[in-house]
Amino acid sequence: MLNQRRRFWTGLVLLMGFALDGLAQELVIAERDLQRAEALRDAAISGTRAYDWVERLTTEVGPRLAGSDAERRAREWAINLAVELNLPPARIETFTLPGWRRGEERAQIVGDFAQPLAITALGGSVATPGEGIEAELAYFDTLRQLERMPEGSLAGKIAFVSHAMQKTQDGSSYGYFNDARTRGAAVAASKGAVALLIRSIGTDSHRFPHTGNMRYVEGVAEIPAAAVANPDADQIQRLSQRGKPIRVALYMTPERVDSVESGNVIIDLIGSEFPEEYVVIGAHLDSWDLGTGAIDDGAGVAISMETLRLIHASGLRPRRTIRLILWGAEEVGLVGGKAYLRNYADVLRQHIAATESDFGAGRIWKMTTRVAPEAEPLMAHINNLIEPLGIARGEGDVASAGPDLSPMIAKGMPGFRFVQDGSDYFDLHHTADDTLDKITPSDLDQNVAAFLVFTWLASQSDLDDWGWLDATGD
Ligand SMILES: [Zn+2]
Repeated sequence: MLNQRRRFWTGLVLLMGFALDGLAQELVIAERDLQRAEALRDAAISGTRAYDWVERLTTEVGPRLAGSDAERRAREWAINLAVELNLPPARIETFTLPGWRRGEERAQIVGDFAQPLAITALGGSVATPGEGIEAELAYFDTLRQLERMPEGSLAGKIAFVSHAMQKTQDGSSYGYFNDARTRGAAVAASKGAVALLIRSIGTDSHRFPHTGNMRYVEGVAEIPAAAVANPDADQIQRLSQRGKPIRVALYMTPERVDSVESGNVIIDLIGSEFPEEYVVIGAHLDSWDLGTGAIDDGAGVAISMETLRLIHASGLRPRRTIRLILWGAEEVGLVGGKAYLRNYADVLRQHIAATESDFGAGRIWKMTTRVAPEAEPLMAHINNLIEPLGIARGEGDVASAGPDLSPMIAKGMPGFRFVQDGSDYFDLHHTADDTLDKITPSDLDQNVAAFLVFTWLASQSDLDDWGWLDATGD
């Protein structure tokens, strides 16, 4: 009797559970929106215009260094494209930043082993004195090794840090090796060095040195800093094993400018029901100056622009606002992302979900999230629709969402990221070799297909909090 009664109650509770479950599923997303997302996805896979946009940006504007006239032309390019594609009007939100431009740059080994070196100044570096610097090279395998040197021990020398970045599918070693680029000059200067050379933070074996941002530290001498192409760094490494001093002559004339203008380009596809709730997609418009910024990040611009265009062109009106942001001045310190945080601090909580495409033009293989358990049913729907594209759900609950979104993620915004295959990303990024020919149009289409699923479901879902964390700090 007791058992029977218990079975009855257990059954009833289970039944109610199923009913509630079904209700929750219905509340998350309507069946017609799942069907629309599927149709958008399938249309994208059979071909999009994404490649056209990166072809145009890299051809008509080319390199677009943050704060340069070329970056301004890139903003105009985006505004004009929005007009041409009949998108809602694009607006520019400008901000200023300290400027930097590259000058002449050359280096050679002098003396017994005399030969030229392929180098490029790191972004933000000061120039050498007018006559250049000639000094003995102090060789270090790693930044850690350099850090362990006593103060003053490198007086009058050029420090060289050789450690080679390792290739990974997701670029996970970048943060570690990148340290030599961002902090290396300050560390070397604190030991008395007159300049810093690093092996390029890149994984190719060509004579294309990789540039990228570096920072000085207040109170520490500002010394010139440059990257050496990988084969040239190999050469230095071999010479250092010969046991004789290596002398290097370095000449660079980059210039710093007090204040230059950049800006974020924003296009809003206004929501019909919740116009003040935002689903954000985007990429950064600026690039380094050596290549034409095709994979970093013209590809991302093309993917996110095409996502917005296809939703708009299909005649669908989203429930909440889909916001495309083409970020300015990412490469020189996420300046556009920080400006956005300042401008939208009051309405940050109205940002429902956001993602950025900034890891080249490769196919997406993984989706990562940082969302609350309540968002899981919706994540499952997204996952179901992107699995046929060859995209797996990442384990754990982590997502960076993209560099420009990181200031907002730090404030607790839920993160969402489509992880691209970046096996060749660090062969190309920040080099003269970052050009259009590296991009396969159908790979961009696969990215657009995934972006469409995410963007449409996020804009239509009833879920308006994917798991904001309580903001920490100020
Ligand atoms: Zn980038």
